[in-house]
Amino acid sequence: GIVLGIESSCDETAAALVTTDRRILAQRIASQDEAHAPYGGVVPEIAARAHAERLAPLIDEVMQEAGLEFADLDAIAATAGPGLIGGVMVGLVSAKALAMAADKPLIAINHLEGHALSPRLADADLDFPYALLLVSGGHCQILHVEGVGQYRRLATTIDDALGEAFDKSAKILGLGYPGGPAVERLALEGDPQAVPLPRPLLGSKEPHFSFAGLKSAVMRAKDSDQHVDADIAASFQQAAIDCVLDRLKAALDAKTPLPALVVAGGVAANQAIRGALEGFAAERSMRFVAPPMALCTDNAAMIGWAGCERLKTGQSDPLDFRARPRWPLDPDAEPVRGAGV
Ligand code: ATP
Ligand code: MG
Ligand code: FE
Repeated sequence: GIVLGIESSCDETAAALVTTDRRILAQRIASQDEAHAPYGGVVPEIAARAHAERLAPLIDEVMQEAGLEFADLDAIAATAGPGLIGGVMVGLVSAKALAMAADKPLIAINHLEGHALSPRLADADLDFPYALLLVSGGHCQILHVEGVGQYRRLATTIDDALGEAFDKSAKILGLGYPGGPAVERLALEGDPQAVPLPRPLLGSKEPHFSFAGLKSAVMRAKDSDQHVDADIAASFQQAAIDCVLDRLKAALDAKTPLPALVVAGGVAANQAIRGALEGFAAERSMRFVAPPMALCTDNAAMIGWAGCERLKTGQSDPLDFRARPRWPLDPDAEPVRGAGV
C-alpha cells in the first residue's frame, strides 16, 4: 500500500509518500526557521500562513517525483494534533479534501505517534514491545510501546521538555533558533565538567523529568561571566544526559525488562545523547534503536509511516475528525503535578 503523509503541526511543512513495505518514494520538508528566527521561537500565526502557502505545492512535488496520481494512493494520513492548531488545521483539512476528492480513506495521526513509530520505518527488525524515550521540542516522555495505538506513559516532564531546555539554553548563549543543533556543535569545543550545574530530580524514585532548574542555572552561569560559552554548552549537555540516564533507570528498573530501548523526536538527533543511550542499553542487554537523523526532527515520512501502520490494522477516520491542540498518547496516564500532556 502507498500512503501520502502530511505534517504541519509546528514549523515544518512536509509531505511524503511512504509504502507499507517501508519505502519512502518521495519526501519534501519546507522549514520555516528563517521566518521565526527573528522572534526566537515559533510564531503560530506566521506558521499557519506559511503552511497554507507551502503545503499544496509540496504535495504536488512529491506526487510528481514518485510519478503517482491520487488514484494510486491507498490512504491519506495527516497530523491531527497535538500542535499549533492553525497549522494542524491546514494539514488536516487538506488531507480531508484530497481523501474526499480521490475517494480514499483519511487517517488522522497523532504527531507523537508519528515520532513513536518512526524507528520502525527504518528498522524492519524492531518489533513491539519497546521502551521509548520520546524527546522533542514539546515533549519529554518515557513510554512502554506495546503496539500501534497502545502506549503506556511511564514518565513525563513536570516543567520543560528536553528540546525546550536546549532551545532556551541556546537563546541564553545567543545561539539563535532552533537551538538544539547549535548547542550540540558548541558543546564539542567545551569541557563538560567545567561548569557545576544541577541535575534536577536525580535519584528520585518517580521517573519524571525536570529541566527548568537546569535552564536557570545555565542563565546564572552565563550571567556570572566566569565561564566561556562552549564550557556552559558542554556542561549543560552533560547534565541533561545524566538526568536522562538516571530517569530512564528509574523508569525501567521498576518494571519487567523490555527487549529494546528506542529514542525518537528531535533531540534524538543529538549524537552525544545517542551515544550515552547506546551505552545505557548495552549495559542492560537491550537493543538500541535510533531512527536516521532525518527522521528525528519533524517530517512527513513518519506521519505517512504511522498511516501505513494504521492502514495495516484496517483503521481509518471520519471526515469530521477534529483537529486537537492537545492529544496525549496515553489518555489513561496518571496526571503529574505541574506536567503538561
Ligand atoms: P513535539 O514533537 O513535541 O510536538 P516539535 O515537533 O516542535 O515538538 P521536534 O521537531 O520533534 O519538536 O524536535 C525539535 C526539537 O529538537 C527542538 O527543541 C530542537 O532544539 C531539538 N533538537 C533538534 N536537533 C537537536 C540536537 N542535535 N540536539 C539537541 N536537540 C535537538
Ligand atoms: Mg522545527
Ligand atoms: Fe515533533
